[in-house]
Amino acid sequence: METSLLRIDQLGDAAAIIAAGGLVAFPTETVYGLGADATNASAILKIYEAKGRPSDNPLIVHVADVGGVLRVAKEVSPITQKLIDAFWPGPLTIVMPKGASVTSELCAGLPSVAVRMPNHPVAIELIRRAGVPLVAPSANRSGRPSGTTWEAVRDDLSGSVDAIVCGEPTDFGLESTVIDITQSPPCVLRHGAISLTAIQDVCPDVVSVEDLEAAEQGRLRKSPGTRHRHYQPHARVMVAGLKTDVMGNTLSVGQTSSAVSRAWIGLSSPNPSENWRIIKVCENVDEYARALFSFFREMDRLGVEAIVCERVSEDGIGRALMDRILRASVDE
Ligand code: AMP
Ligand code: MG
Repeated sequence: METSLLRIDQLGDAAAIIAAGGLVAFPTETVYGLGADATNASAILKIYEAKGRPSDNPLIVHVADVGGVLRVAKEVSPITQKLIDAFWPGPLTIVMPKGASVTSELCAGLPSVAVRMPNHPVAIELIRRAGVPLVAPSANRSGRPSGTTWEAVRDDLSGSVDAIVCGEPTDFGLESTVIDITQSPPCVLRHGAISLTAIQDVCPDVVSVEDLEAAEQGRLRKSPGTRHRHYQPHARVMVAGLKTDVMGNTLSVGQTSSAVSRAWIGLSSPNPSENWRIIKVCENVDEYARALFSFFREMDRLGVEAIVCERVSEDGIGRALMDRILRASVDE
């Protein structure tokens, strides 16, 4: 299949491809999404195929208004309404009970559906023109870092999707926060730009999946996507100063021999006595988050063998950033 590169003033063409059951990647404020008509089961199956995505990992539905939510969800509950009022449009995905007519391909067989309203003019305009909610997971091959530029999307998906809308690099660079309101208490399944504390200001009883995990040991309904390998470049990812990774395995940070081609990314400079092929010092955590996935991809292009990421404090988007870095560092 030939992949068309579309300008942001060609959204009519993009909408026509979606109406015909095709796949179009488009920019959002988090990462690029790979969009299809959320009401078309065969188009949804094409997304799994194009991404090489495991079929048990459900997708996020993108809507342009609250009316769109009711096309895929059973209802807008009072807590959903509160979250919508506080955080939409924006990087908060809400998992809610699915509507009766929703195709099971969309939810990977689960009784719930994940929905968000992006805060991005191109994404909103595309959804409006398509006239249907758009199902859109991150636009990358499964397991790879999410695409934060149209070039990254092209590198991963050219030949597997019908078109890419070539917008600007994304604002946040990390995927949305995912909150599940079908559990009691509501639970943040994936950290993102909207922090747990910001959500707790609106809904004080919300917990994080890590808190529940510690308390409930195994009885937990986790986000299916978190079970899979994620965010990984070809280079080995390591965390500066960390002795163990997210799974508790011992890491060989700083023990890589200087013969290995290494890159550094962080908020400060690394130890200058060590050999670094590339050093990227970001001005603040927002910039670090925005840069992370495209840095991973750039280092792969340069053939760097190991990427050392400086640890940051886990406040605000720092928590999501550390989550992605730690998952990228897991060896499987
Ligand atoms: P992606 O769009 O590729 O970033 O992945 C979507 C994320 O949303 C994955 O982590 C999914 O597991 C999660 N997700 C989507 N639908 C549901 C659902 N019904 N229940 C729980 N998590 C979901
Ligand atoms: Mg993804």
